[in-house]
Amino acid sequence: MNKLTIEQVDLAGKRVFIRVDFNVPVTEDGRIREETRIVAALPTIRLAQAKGGRVILASHFGRPEGNVVAKYSLKPVAERLSQLLGQPVPLAPDCVGEAVEGMVNALLPGEILLLENVRFHAGETKNNPELADRFARLADVVVNDAFGAAHRAHASNVGIAQRVTPAVAGLLMAAEIAYFNKAVRQPQRPVAAILGGSKVSTKIAVIESLLDKVDQILIGGAMAFTFFKARGYPVGASLVEDEMLEVARRTEAKARERGVALLLPVDAVIAQSLDGEQQQIVPVEQIPAGWMGLDIGPATVQLFAEALRSAQTIVWNGPMGVFEKPAFAQGTEALARCVADSAALSVAGGGDTDAALRQAGVAERISFISTGGGAFMELLEGKELPGITVLTEA
Ligand code: ADP
Ligand code: MG
Repeated sequence: MNKLTIEQVDLAGKRVFIRVDFNVPVTEDGRIREETRIVAALPTIRLAQAKGGRVILASHFGRPEGNVVAKYSLKPVAERLSQLLGQPVPLAPDCVGEAVEGMVNALLPGEILLLENVRFHAGETKNNPELADRFARLADVVVNDAFGAAHRAHASNVGIAQRVTPAVAGLLMAAEIAYFNKAVRQPQRPVAAILGGSKVSTKIAVIESLLDKVDQILIGGAMAFTFFKARGYPVGASLVEDEMLEVARRTEAKARERGVALLLPVDAVIAQSLDGEQQQIVPVEQIPAGWMGLDIGPATVQLFAEALRSAQTIVWNGPMGVFEKPAFAQGTEALARCVADSAALSVAGGGDTDAALRQAGVAERISFISTGGGAFMELLEGKELPGITVLTEA
């Protein structure tokens, strides 16, 4: 993953096609609810301008599935971006075509044009060659800053980069790659991975891949109960995947073989329903029938905190409990504070993990929080991301 970055290439007078991720959450009436992704792209946009580039921005937005759908227009984003940058950001009527080519070719250095939603064309998600050719006509240099879409081979990230050289990483993409390398590929040891969330089945590829790379794996969330059932403990009404019991047993055996410490919770916050009215803390071997494990208990927080004390590197995906409910958020929040207080390099990713770290108020003190849920998970699984692979080697 040694790729050229925007910092290393000459952009003066060039048409710089920046693939960003402006897929922001919006309200029913189309107002931007959360602008993190827009703000995250600003450094790359400003750098392209400072280097004398003529800036073309492209993004997907929602799932219009190849149709022009008014509510998936990037118009609100163009308006917000123009406020944030303090200069006009016109929205092109489409993302390709003669009219758009005319607008692009008329751009002066430092000027910006936002293309309309690339998913208004069905060829985008199929990486259709004709559509990629049409994107390529808009660019002298390609910059990919859309880490969140890098696990997909689409026309506006992969297709165009196969046709235009150089195709380089933007600042956000470069940071994602650099932190992943530091945390997983060439980490300072010992490395601890914290894994949680609801399902073993969605995380098993991550666990398998990390078993070869880390020194400790701390497992929380609903996932732990599949491991407990596999060990023969009563798990009450906890969320369990029966088809993953054998996988859980094998995973514990593999960890032993490889000398990786696999730590499971020792106590759980249990309740009979999610309303949290009646809850108890019990040892994990003693969950009564009808009760569900919904968070890790205080003894587990202590155990995990102790285990993290020696770590030089911490990788985290998946909350320790149903953190959306205050009654079951304490374990995740306590562990979040512990990771934030640690001197280790800490890298976290996953949509709910991100939300949980913000809720705990410690996001600023995590070394890096990935902006790509699915893309981050695929990196953890050891996969190559097509949006990164296609970039020009440094
Ligand atoms: P991420 O988005 O960070 O990858 P996941 O989507 O895998 O994380 O998991 C988050 C979800 O797991 C949350 O909705 C949370 O409520 C749920 N969860 C965590 N622990 C439990 C549990 N013990 N029982 C049921 N759901 C749980
Ligand atoms: Mg999630």
